[in-house]
Amino acid sequence: MGTEIRVRPESIEVDEVARRRVLRRIAAEGARCHHCGGTDFVVGRALYLGFLFLDEDTDAYLVALTCTDPDCPRPHTGIRLRGEQFLDDGHHST
Ligand SMILES: [Zn+2]
Repeated sequence: MGTEIRVRPESIEVDEVARRRVLRRIAAEGARCHHCGGTDFVVGRALYLGFLFLDEDTDAYLVALTCTDPDCPRPHTGIRLRGEQFLDDGHHST
């Protein structure tokens, strides 16, 4: 396994518009990197959680984030969001 990063088929592409919504969300919540306190992230792919775990909302996603601080000890992290908070489904709140 090692450190090789594979794109899993279960994860979904986050397009430019959704990406910007995620970043706006992070800024609004004042979310920070747990490892270095950084506030700048690159948005990666999203993994649908809704049907994997019974205690998740059916609309829950884990969106991959990469901290942009070059000194960050563990730059890979993620944020849980509801699909309607960042995906184009016609009734997002922003
Ligand atoms: Zn960091």
